[in-house]
Amino acid sequence: MKKQVPYQIHLSESEMPKQWYNIMADMKELPEPALSPVTKKPATLEELRQIFPTGLLEQEMSTERYIDIPEEVLEKYKMFRTTPLHRAYNLEKFLKTPARLYYKYEGQNPSGSHKLNTAIPQVYYNKLEGIKRLATETGAGQWGTALATACSFYDIDCTVYMVRVSYDQKPYRKILMQTFGATVHPSPSVHTEAGRKILAEDPNSSGSLGIAISEAVEDAVTHSDTNYALGSVLNHVILHQTIIGQEAVLQMEKIDEYPDIVIGCNGGGSNFCGFAFPFLKDKLNGKSNTKFIAVEPLACPKLTKGVYTYDYGDTAGMAPIAKMYTLGHKFMPPGIHAGGLRYHGDSPLLSKLYHDGYIEAVALAQADVFKAAIDFAKTEAILPAPESSHAICQAIKEAVKCRETGEEKVIIFNVSGHGYLDLAAYDNYLSGKLDSDNICIDEELEKSLKELPKLE
Ligand SMILES: *Cc1c(COP(=O)(O)O)cnc(C)c1O
Repeated sequence: MKKQVPYQIHLSESEMPKQWYNIMADMKELPEPALSPVTKKPATLEELRQIFPTGLLEQEMSTERYIDIPEEVLEKYKMFRTTPLHRAYNLEKFLKTPARLYYKYEGQNPSGSHKLNTAIPQVYYNKLEGIKRLATETGAGQWGTALATACSFYDIDCTVYMVRVSYDQKPYRKILMQTFGATVHPSPSVHTEAGRKILAEDPNSSGSLGIAISEAVEDAVTHSDTNYALGSVLNHVILHQTIIGQEAVLQMEKIDEYPDIVIGCNGGGSNFCGFAFPFLKDKLNGKSNTKFIAVEPLACPKLTKGVYTYDYGDTAGMAPIAKMYTLGHKFMPPGIHAGGLRYHGDSPLLSKLYHDGYIEAVALAQADVFKAAIDFAKTEAILPAPESSHAICQAIKEAVKCRETGEEKVIIFNVSGHGYLDLAAYDNYLSGKLDSDNICIDEELEKSLKELPKLE
């Protein structure tokens, strides 16, 4: 008999966690420090203060286990949190699996993804320090939308450098950002030295995330009232996202369940880590044997094919150098539809924990991922983002294994966002026009790994 729990497990407003969980308190060894791209020595607080507020830098380096969520941030979270934990009864039935499947869904806010969980505190800490404007980059637009939304809550100006090709081809997220009051420049733009330089060489440049980061960082460095904001990778971003996993821990306790397998998709690590770390705490303390799986695209396989070394966070080599799993900052992944997973590097925290064997990783092909997305949409009534569908696809694979072995495993996964602005991607899949995602990875990798920064 299957255990009877509701389709949705809710937390009341007063049950929402009031602190973020910092995994560094429970790690046996900490990740190595970030290096300055200029001196190649550990980045100093002074250097980082040029673009980030002290409140966030303190969190970046903190080893306190729990950090209070400011009252004002909690109030904003309450507009769209807590998010329910869903029991995937219909997906289980469809898969004929004895496994019990649970998922968190983070798509129910205007930005459509988990990214608003960090955008709000990031804007809050910048506002506290008198910052008037934030500059950032965005690829497909999820992060830009989240930051624009949070800036509108706090009446802060927001400038988004959006990769030119997305700006032209994906107008809806641009319109969404403008709706929330952001200024959106196609990147490369004429507004920065970095952008003008690229345009002088190639007036028709379609841009890249690396160029957009360079523009946003330059904008922040050259304006004293302006800071830079990053939507993933950094410790403080992951800290903010632990609201997801802490809610999930409480929700699982409510129904007296504990996960055997925890799954999330991995771009820069923020939704996976935010979801997984509150469960991983038990494993680090020898109290559980749960399996953790980070899922990446075959087209951008940093954990499964990359190397663990110091590399630049951006293509242009302006961002701090971090010890992480990387494909090399010059690596150009094929243009797959899960744009949020096309980052060459990864979170230093996730990289360290993966390197030390606490976390596993798999890489999946686009066609399998879209098939899983559609099976999920049909059974669970949510159209998932292509990024999130990587987690769904792996959860389905694990559930199918259980069907074969008869094991009643408890599998929990994170659905990081919705796919309503990714319909062109679904259209490509349905009409058989998905590009191949497994072309020349090895060749491209061999080239890009030669361009890792030379230290010493
Ligand atoms: C940005 C994004 C991701 C990837 O970023 P992470 O930092 O790895 O979480 C995944 N899913 C969605 C919906 C996103 O918008």
